[in-house]
Amino acid sequence: MNLKGLSIIGQRRAKAAGNPNAALNPATGSAIGPDFFWATSGDVDEAAELASKAFVEFRRWPAKRRAALLQRIAELLEANAAAIIERANQETALPAPRLQGEMARTCFQLRFCGEAAINHLFTAARIDHGDPNRKPLPKPDLRSMMIPLGPVVVFSASNFPLAFSVAGGDTAAAFAAGCPAIVKPHHAHLGTSEMVGALIQQAAAESGAPDGIFSMLYGNGREIGTALVKHPRVKAVGFTGSRSGGRALMDAAAARPEPIPVYAEMGSINPVFVLNGALGQRGEEIAAGLHGSVTLGVGQFCTNPGLVFIEAGDAAKNFVAKLASLFTATAAGTMLTSGLCSAYQSGLEKFSKISGVKRVAIATNEGRAGQARAALFETNAKNFLNNPALMEEIFGPSTLLVECASRAEMLQAAARVEGQLTATIHALPDEVSSNRELVEALVNKAGRLLFGGFPTGVEVAHAMTHGGPYPATSDGRSTSVGTRAMERFLRPVSFQNFPDAMLPAELQESNPLGIPRLVDGKLTGC
Ligand code: NAP
Repeated sequence: MNLKGLSIIGQRRAKAAGNPNAALNPATGSAIGPDFFWATSGDVDEAAELASKAFVEFRRWPAKRRAALLQRIAELLEANAAAIIERANQETALPAPRLQGEMARTCFQLRFCGEAAINHLFTAARIDHGDPNRKPLPKPDLRSMMIPLGPVVVFSASNFPLAFSVAGGDTAAAFAAGCPAIVKPHHAHLGTSEMVGALIQQAAAESGAPDGIFSMLYGNGREIGTALVKHPRVKAVGFTGSRSGGRALMDAAAARPEPIPVYAEMGSINPVFVLNGALGQRGEEIAAGLHGSVTLGVGQFCTNPGLVFIEAGDAAKNFVAKLASLFTATAAGTMLTSGLCSAYQSGLEKFSKISGVKRVAIATNEGRAGQARAALFETNAKNFLNNPALMEEIFGPSTLLVECASRAEMLQAAARVEGQLTATIHALPDEVSSNRELVEALVNKAGRLLFGGFPTGVEVAHAMTHGGPYPATSDGRSTSVGTRAMERFLRPVSFQNFPDAMLPAELQESNPLGIPRLVDGKLTGC
């Protein structure tokens, strides 16, 4: 594919303006052509106005047509997968097999969202028939359904150049819901973004979509990203990244004359609680699984387990020793950007200086510039409870073990952790019934609770919640993975006493679309 380095505005390209920017290979530090040019404030205005106009028609597209668009994007991605993966490998240092898996997941996600739209999983049609004879007042006929919000701005994540990027979950959810998408790509994979963006542009043209259902504007987050979030034509935001970035966008959106929802998925340290029985019987196996999860993808996952609670004792000693040997022997790995690698280094140094925190192990393989070494830290629960800095995410292959003197101390720590994407419990079956308080504490803290296993690896499914209370996300009522992600870009509307012919097909009396509906309190059409 011939890259131009220019933003996409509907069916055209923006002009080259300002200074050129380079895509960098994090493994070598060298630039990869072509030059990339940032969008201007005029481009922001044009993309937002075009998206708003396109929404008038796009919101009325039947679900089947939206699904066909998503299907076409998936087909084009598959047809160009080899070139996209080669470029993504150069820009992110993520290995080809990982990127192949991510490509498959991205295409699955696009089709899955399309199917959910066809099956009207989120139309949520409800009918309450009126009763003109009701006393003392007649009961109105009320019918409600979910409708799309309007243009959505999507901020790509650095750590998933395909699945949480230009054609990732947020864009798929926006299109499936009937919303145009304007993507602010991540600077960590500029060329990959252009390749994918151009294919979405092609799919939109082939599908006869109104001009402007998709735009992609290169630029600095604080300038172009914030300008998009503040634009009056934009009606919602999807974001994956840091807490500081997500928080800045939440504040910008709330300060608009018309505030809009920001669905920001931010940092999480994903606590793991290992109860004594499991530690005694399966300590070695849990240590190997934990090490694999912490170091997977050089630790660059929002579900990376960064905090592990264990009960003090002999089993804990063996567990720590096993983990230490695994961490010491881990090969250094190239991080997505030099900035993320420096931030990881600073995080390790900061932890090492905290009183009561011991660095138990660091990988002996020092690696090259831009590479991270796996690190294991240890502290006790008292120290953890007194030190909020120990709850900060270190984005990379490290984890902190917290030794608890008693189960009560473990419960105290569980009550103290902030909102998380996930929380994991390792226990023997008979330990579960005596630890219900732990489950109760964690269900209020996390979007996904795991019994056994490790939180990295987020299944794209109807029942997946990839969200969680603040600060894991800006809105703990939402998920950014799975078909429920569409709910973020929809709102309910009721029609009162409307003539049947003027109602949307979803709410007409004869149910011409044959969709599931709640009629007078009873589920029908299932
Ligand atoms: P990031 O710095 O938050 O950047 C994400 C996106 O938001 C980028 O497009 C960035 O634009 C934009 N942005 C950042 N700060 C902004 C601000 N104040 N105003 C407007 N836009 C802003 O995240 P990152 O580069 O991917 O990684 C940094 C940290 O994010 C990591 O250390 C990790 O803690 C966290 N992270 C979390 C997840 C997750 O899944 N929750 C994933 C990846 C990273 P520019 O690039 O132009 O600044």
